[in-house]
Amino acid sequence: MASTNINPPVFTDKHLKMFWERVDKTPGFGPDGDCWSWTGTIGNQGYGSLAIIQRGIPRRIVGAHRFSFMVHFHEWPKLLVCHHCDNRSCVNPAHLFKGTNAENSADMAAKGRGIRGEDNYNTTLTEVEITELRSLFPRLSYEEIGRRFSVAACTAKRIIKCQTWKHVEDATNAASQQRPARGELHCFARLTEKDVREIRQNAAICSLYAQGKRYGVSPATIRNVVRRETWKHIL
Ligand SMILES: [Zn+2]
Repeated sequence: MASTNINPPVFTDKHLKMFWERVDKTPGFGPDGDCWSWTGTIGNQGYGSLAIIQRGIPRRIVGAHRFSFMVHFHEWPKLLVCHHCDNRSCVNPAHLFKGTNAENSADMAAKGRGIRGEDNYNTTLTEVEITELRSLFPRLSYEEIGRRFSVAACTAKRIIKCQTWKHVEDATNAASQQRPARGELHCFARLTEKDVREIRQNAAICSLYAQGKRYGVSPATIRNVVRRETWKHIL
């Protein structure tokens, strides 16, 4: 999908209306209860889709999450659009973010082998693999770990940060990281130096809210990191 749909779709107000008619913002969907559910067509991979049909232009099917990203951020990403919420049918722009080149490559490689989906492969991993995956961090980078398990780096990171697969215990990793005990909402909330660098790098393309969600901290914490009011010693 990412490689073939590099040009933004040409759409009209009619298509925009069609999009919004298929968005259900009723609270309660998704891991945090604030996902926007797509009530239109859902493809095999679990992503919503929207058909853009108009006279004189070839029919085009676009990902509902990609369409949402475009509508809200006025950009049609050349790379993947990933979900913070791991809910593929979600079109809440606050839950969407652009994948990196590495994630795109991992995705294309996975597709080439005909296994696993776009940016969320969690359902294909076993609990044993989750424990093993976490044990590799920080010895290996998110990208390396992702490659090893054929998942996107962002997916590996969320697993490691315990934002997904929360029910799988990873005492080994927690001990080796000397992190504080994990609370219900503050699962690995403390940032690492690597996180701080990434947050600053992504500041131009990710909202404070999105980054906060990604790293399990508040938007205010992200803002302080970006403004270098905290973590001043990290270049
Ligand atoms: Zn969502």
